[in-house]
Amino acid sequence: AQVGDFLPSGDRRLTVLSGPSGVGKSTVVAELRRAHPGVWLSVSVTTRRPRPGEVHGVHYFFVDGEEFDRLVESGELLEWAEFAGNRYGTPRRAVLERVAAGVPTLLEIDLEGARQVRRSMPEALLVFLAPPSWQELEKRLRGRGTEPEEVIARRLEAGRIEMAAEKEFDLTLVNTDVKDVCRRLIALMTDPLGVTTTT
Ligand code: 5GP
Repeated sequence: AQVGDFLPSGDRRLTVLSGPSGVGKSTVVAELRRAHPGVWLSVSVTTRRPRPGEVHGVHYFFVDGEEFDRLVESGELLEWAEFAGNRYGTPRRAVLERVAAGVPTLLEIDLEGARQVRRSMPEALLVFLAPPSWQELEKRLRGRGTEPEEVIARRLEAGRIEMAAEKEFDLTLVNTDVKDVCRRLIALMTDPLGVTTTT
């Protein structure tokens, strides 16, 4: 696809990066954070516990279930979804403020969250991050092969369903090289002429 097809004007500042679990979304975001500080990355709220090295307010806002309920009920989340037993959501106000100010804004969220943004903000650009091949994703989902076969089978089935979501997206970036994906993403988000080719 041509990027120009998806940039009718300079006012599409909201981009959603999603894709199957295990495809490397968080690696892309880490590289963006490091190399492209001009892009504003939305900070999600989550009920998950912090991992080593994760900073409250930088990687996530870590909240308890009660606080998450409150955010949902008061309409403060643009979208939210449950993933692997935890809840994740995007604070609405911060995103709308950045978009209104013309700041290129990126949400890295799961597929269910991307569908909700599609409904509530149809002008957002939805980018699907795809593995270089199904075999590659399968390898990652199988992990180190220490898990029971039925757990692996369940993951592979989930992965196949997630891959089918690609057609709901505006365009696909193939994750062969993280720096290359970041360059393409930045071009999509910031190139007002829409002259970059993405395929
Ligand atoms: P992790 O726990 O590994 O940081 O993230 C697990 C999954 O949650 C990833 O697929 C990530 O994209 C997704 N995620 C992170 N923040 C949000 C959010 O605000 N909303 C939704 N819907 N998914 C999110």
